[in-house]
Amino acid sequence: MASRRLLKSRGLQERLNAGESILCAEGYLLALSRRGYITHGVWVPEFILEDPAVLKSVHYEMAHAGSDVIEAFQYNTHREKMKQIGREDDIEKINRTALKIAHEVAEEKNLLFAGGISNTNQYVKGETEEKVRAMFEEQVRWSKEEGVDYMIGETFSFLGEAQIALEVIQSFDLPAVVTLTVHGAKGEDGVVRTRDGVPIGEACKDLIDRGVTITGVNCTRGPEMTLELVNNIVQVCPPEKIGALPIAYRTTPKEPSFMDLTDSICPANNPVYPRGMEPFCVSPVEIESFTKSCTSLGMKYLGICCGNSGELTRTMAETMGRKPPASRYLDHTQFGFLMKLKMSGEL
Ligand SMILES: [Zn+2]
Repeated sequence: MASRRLLKSRGLQERLNAGESILCAEGYLLALSRRGYITHGVWVPEFILEDPAVLKSVHYEMAHAGSDVIEAFQYNTHREKMKQIGREDDIEKINRTALKIAHEVAEEKNLLFAGGISNTNQYVKGETEEKVRAMFEEQVRWSKEEGVDYMIGETFSFLGEAQIALEVIQSFDLPAVVTLTVHGAKGEDGVVRTRDGVPIGEACKDLIDRGVTITGVNCTRGPEMTLELVNNIVQVCPPEKIGALPIAYRTTPKEPSFMDLTDSICPANNPVYPRGMEPFCVSPVEIESFTKSCTSLGMKYLGICCGNSGELTRTMAETMGRKPPASRYLDHTQFGFLMKLKMSGEL
C-alpha cells in the first residue's frame, strides 16, 4: 500500500518534470465498435450502462500492454450526443460510470487516471462559446469529483474550442492534455491549419502559452501523416510539450485523413470511413518506426488513437524501452517451424 501511495503521489506533471515519458492508450470508440458494442453513426457508448465489464476488460488490455494512463471512456458522452439518442437524462450516470470503471483499473494497476472531453460539434466562433463551455464544465466537474489525476481534451479541429476546453480544465485546477486534430490537407503555401485557419504549430504554441501541460495532435491521421504534422509543430514548440497519438490506419499525403481514404482494390468498400478501414490497418512495425521518430525528437507523450489494440500499444511501450506485463509473451518468430524452413531455403 505504501508503495502504491508513493507512486500515485507522482502525477502527470511530476513525471514529466522528472524527464519520464508517458504512454496513453486511447482509441476506445473503435475498439468497442469492433467488439460489437457501439454502432456507427452517432457513436455514443451507451453499452457502458448495460455492460460495464466489457469496458473494464479493454482497460485491462491496455494496462497489460503498457499504457501509463487509464482514460475514462467519456468520448461522445457529452450533452449533444446524449440528446441525439434520446438519453440526455443519463448523461451524469454514463459519465460517472465510465469514470468509476477507469478509476478502479487505474487504482488496481497503479496507473494515472484521466478524464476526457472532446469536440462537441457545436462550436461556432462568436455564437456558441458559452454553450460549449457549459458542456465541458459538467463533464470536467464530474471527472474532478471522481478523482481524476488530469484531464484529456482531444480531437479539437478548432483552436477556439480547444482554448475553451483548456480554460475549463484549468478552472478546476487540473493538469490538461489538450490535443488538436487536423482534417484538411496542406494549403497551397504548404502549411496545415486548424479549421479556424491557424497554422498547426502556431495553434499548439498558443495552447502552451496559455499553460497547457501537453498539447499536440491526436486522431484522424495515420502515423506517417501525424509525423509530418509533428515535424512541423516542433519547429515552433518545445518537443517535450508535444504529444502525438495517431490513428492505427495508414493515411497518405493525397488522403491525409481517414475520412479521405478510398479503396482502389475493393471500390465497394468506399467510402472507407467508417466501416471499411480494416484494409488500411498499420502493423506493429509501423508503430515501432513512428515511436522511434517521436522519441528521437525528444517527445514525451505518445499513444495510439482509433484502431488501437493491445498488440500495438505493447509495441509502442517496448519501443519506448519499457517491459510491460504483455512483454512476457516474447516474439518466437525465429523459433517457428515454418519460418526456420523458409529461412534455410527449404520452403
Ligand atoms: Zn481517434
